[in-house]
Amino acid sequence: MSTLINPATGVEIDASPASATLEEADAAIERAADAFAAWRDVAPGERARLLRTFAAVVDEHLEELARLEVLNAGHTIGNARWEAGNVRDCLNYYSAAPERLFGRQIPVPGGTDITFHEPLGVVGVIVPWNFPMPIAAWGFAPALAAGNTVVLKPAELTPLTAMRIGELALEAGLPEGVLTVVPGKGSVVGERFVTHPLVRKVCFTGSTAVGKQIMAGCADQVKRVTLELGGKSANIVFADADVAAAAASAPYAVFDNAGQDCCARSRILVQRAAYDEFVGRLETAVKALRVLDPADEQSEMGPLVSAGQRDAVRSYVEGASVAFTGTAPDGPGWWLPPTVVESRDTGEAVWREEVFGPVVAVMAFDDEEEAVALANDTEYGLSGSIFTSDVGRALRVARAVEAGNLSVNSHSSVRYWTPFGGYKQSGLGRELGPDAPDAFTEEKNVFIAH
Ligand code: NAD
Repeated sequence: MSTLINPATGVEIDASPASATLEEADAAIERAADAFAAWRDVAPGERARLLRTFAAVVDEHLEELARLEVLNAGHTIGNARWEAGNVRDCLNYYSAAPERLFGRQIPVPGGTDITFHEPLGVVGVIVPWNFPMPIAAWGFAPALAAGNTVVLKPAELTPLTAMRIGELALEAGLPEGVLTVVPGKGSVVGERFVTHPLVRKVCFTGSTAVGKQIMAGCADQVKRVTLELGGKSANIVFADADVAAAAASAPYAVFDNAGQDCCARSRILVQRAAYDEFVGRLETAVKALRVLDPADEQSEMGPLVSAGQRDAVRSYVEGASVAFTGTAPDGPGWWLPPTVVESRDTGEAVWREEVFGPVVAVMAFDDEEEAVALANDTEYGLSGSIFTSDVGRALRVARAVEAGNLSVNSHSSVRYWTPFGGYKQSGLGRELGPDAPDAFTEEKNVFIAH
């Protein structure tokens, strides 16, 4: 694997796992297939206990995992602790699933009809670099709970926490081969998950372009696939909202994780009557954002993940109408200041494309109909926010915006208790929430003649 670099300092990290070869990927998949027979037959209560133990071991190593993510991905220490905690919480939440994987008894004439939820076999989870820990857990926790074994490929840039979590799984007592982390290239290991017939489902999170290739590849074997892809989400602020609260929270909705968040509210739509007040307050909030060394407890935003990502994001800012920026440290590392652009043309790249960095575009609208039309004028549909004091409007707009995860007078979209996923080209299928384990099963129907 190419050398890993600390994004905050530009200094090489003294721990780069070797990239798996095609043969090594095949061997990992075969071991996972061998482990499946025994894992599916582990009694539900025992599988639940093992997942709870795994959660407890993750919790014991929470600080270590968080520090590793600060080093490898440049996440702020506060975020990284939340992310490691999210792995623990997903494991605990889905540890309840093995004992509740109910089928149904369906009334039919002439006999008894019952359904079973049976695990698929080996599930391949492919993870991007922006949230290495949570996205891994959203795949492996429900998949394991439903009785599948998992092979997991972290992103090339950010393999370290996944590798450690793989070790912790063994420490917690999960049998060898039940959760295997296979670091390596997307074009080698990731693609092998798609083409290998023993992998029965691919759970992919990443760019829309690669997601389309994965979906096409999976079609060849009618392989099950879940896609969590890009976004260009709108934060819609009506003039009847608490404008001060909307402006104060808007930076966190887009600049969290330095904007490298598929749910980033990277378009802000503000009703014209409140536009000047909102932008004025936004400037105060953005300038106050603490863009600091991510290991600093006070840090609210860290660096971009790589020099390449920083350069790609910077290219969106060049030529755009920058209204104001926040601050960023000088010196080494892949830093950019949080940047606010005023957009007047919906054709601008910064308005249309997923920037995946600390850049937000603001635009004025006149009425509710225009706000909804602007919000929906995108190929994406992942998340979004609506700020208004009118409950009727909040519900009307929430129903009208074509996106999988909306929040009113807040910006939360990912909670492990609730379903998460995209409309349109933001994805296919849903993760998290109470139904996630079902998505890792086949429903079998059995009729018994009387
Ligand atoms: P990416 O698509 O380049 O890579 C994602 C993963 O896919 C990596 O592990 C990569 O190695 C692997 N991969 C690359 N080519 C592959 C191939 N041909 N076959 C199989 N695997 C392959 O994305 P990225 O740059 O790592 O992540 C950023 C993107 O992820 C953004 O577009 C972002 O919106 C999206 N994302 C979406 C969600 C969501 O839940 N919807 C969450 C986080 C990130």
